[in-house]
Amino acid sequence: MPEIQPTTAEGGLTQATIVKKAAAKSDYKPADVSPQRRVQRSFAVRLWSVRHSRLLEWFYARFADMFLLLHPLWKGIGYGRVEGPIKFVEKRVKGFMFDCRMCGQCVLSSTGMSCPMNCPKQLRNGPCGGVRANGNCEVEPDMPCVWVKAWEGSQNMVHGDKILDVQKPVDQSLRETSAWLRVTAQTAAARESTQAAKTGAPT
Ligand code: SF4
Repeated sequence: MPEIQPTTAEGGLTQATIVKKAAAKSDYKPADVSPQRRVQRSFAVRLWSVRHSRLLEWFYARFADMFLLLHPLWKGIGYGRVEGPIKFVEKRVKGFMFDCRMCGQCVLSSTGMSCPMNCPKQLRNGPCGGVRANGNCEVEPDMPCVWVKAWEGSQNMVHGDKILDVQKPVDQSLRETSAWLRVTAQTAAARESTQAAKTGAPT
């Protein structure tokens, strides 16, 4: 049983370092990638998105409006039928821009355009206690903490205070589904029920 050293501020040891040191040695080491196979280049695009969070917030609002306008089309074809191609595009676009993990319940507009699913602990309501002094992740020392970046991104946004909203736990049953279509269908349903309430028509 390897000896576990206590955490000391002077030694700069974090819990992750201690766990790593205590882990059993093995011959298998993934080649030059982090456990979740992230690469430096993807940090660069991800960080660009955070720096341009205000522009992306504006763009996303227009994009959501356009998707909502197309609701009759999605409904006519069938949401189930369009899901495949829409998901294909969503996964690639958001994967490139935000390192999206397709959780299916997107919160980018509340997190400064920094995807919280890139947190190795997948925390959805702020950072853990292990953020390093340089603002990087406790578990992945080369990666900027997604929540440090989320705060920075939210400060540029018009509705940046949404970062204070408490997010629900991740619903794993929604993984690999389209957040774009879900939000559109939910907004359309809410709009229809508001209109029905005004006119007194049954929903
Ligand atoms: S919050 Fe979910 S849907 Fe949004 S970018 Fe992150 S993984 Fe993708």
